[in-house]
Amino acid sequence: MMEQEKIEEILIPENQIKKRVEQLGNQISHDYKGKEIFCIGVLKGAAIFLADLARYIKVPLTIDFMAISSYGVSSESSGVVRILKDLDENIEDKAVLIVEDIVDTGLTLDYLLRMLQSRKPASLRTCALLNKIERRKLEVPVDYCGFEIPDKFVVGYGLDFNGLYRNIPYIFVLKSTYING
Ligand code: 5GP
Repeated sequence: MMEQEKIEEILIPENQIKKRVEQLGNQISHDYKGKEIFCIGVLKGAAIFLADLARYIKVPLTIDFMAISSYGVSSESSGVVRILKDLDENIEDKAVLIVEDIVDTGLTLDYLLRMLQSRKPASLRTCALLNKIERRKLEVPVDYCGFEIPDKFVVGYGLDFNGLYRNIPYIFVLKSTYING
């Protein structure tokens, strides 16, 4: 399935992801008991994580997606955040949970939080599978965090490089020859 020679290092194996996603689902179910969650998946990276996470959440929920501009074909943040696809529904008075694949500089999440807060949700929390704290430029709240990872460019389980590797069920570091050409 995946050419072994492209893998520098497997950072998080499939079974660990599954276990952690289940724990996050349990924690979220507990915290939102008696409520209905409006989950917002940030495309495309969070789609796979959200699909798995949602099945471990035991309170009623709805799912909507947003697409924003991200790194494009490069692995460096441009700092420019643009909405490519907005939500289909109104979030006013709803318990909103933003689901992200990874928080890196924090620019994207900071922008999303400010933009969504202005739409007056009842509550607004964030869930990220991965968190690269060392890279933070802006302080942003990550209420539910799957894993803290070092400053390495990772792919797999929804995260891509040039659109590839989202389907790989574990998180790994690509060999630099495949990133730098
Ligand atoms: P931030 O705005 O926090 O710097 O970046 C958030 C976005 O950058 C993520 O949603 C993701 O699309 C991208 N990103 C940041 N770090 C990585 C990484 O290590 N691998 C991949 N594939 N994307 C990343």
